[in-house]
Amino acid sequence: MAELTATQQNSLQSKLSELKEELEVLLASSSASSQTVDLDQPIGRLSRMDALQQQAMAKANRAGHQMRLTLVDAALMAIKRGCYGECRRCEEPIGFSRLNVRPESPFCYECQEQSEKIR
Ligand SMILES: [Zn+2]
Repeated sequence: MAELTATQQNSLQSKLSELKEELEVLLASSSASSQTVDLDQPIGRLSRMDALQQQAMAKANRAGHQMRLTLVDAALMAIKRGCYGECRRCEEPIGFSRLNVRPESPFCYECQEQSEKIR
């Protein structure tokens, strides 16, 4: 896998900045909507279940966004330190094609596969 060219890194950096903004907006709006479910309200059994389900889903989404934002921040830091695009486990270049799909990815394909098998 080849190391990133300056052009590739620039394009990934702007992707990461956009992603960061998007995630921050999503997180801000979801924190507002997750407060609207009041379980003490007599809203009936079915709608109560719906509300609970929606609340659980919003929570899961939020956790996912939060985790992704952490990775995006780490990737932006890595760009500043000049070690972006390096796998955090085996230190091999992650490769542009993979980063182009998931610019916040901290691991190369092989290491990602392995960590998913362990889990
Ligand atoms: Zn690796």
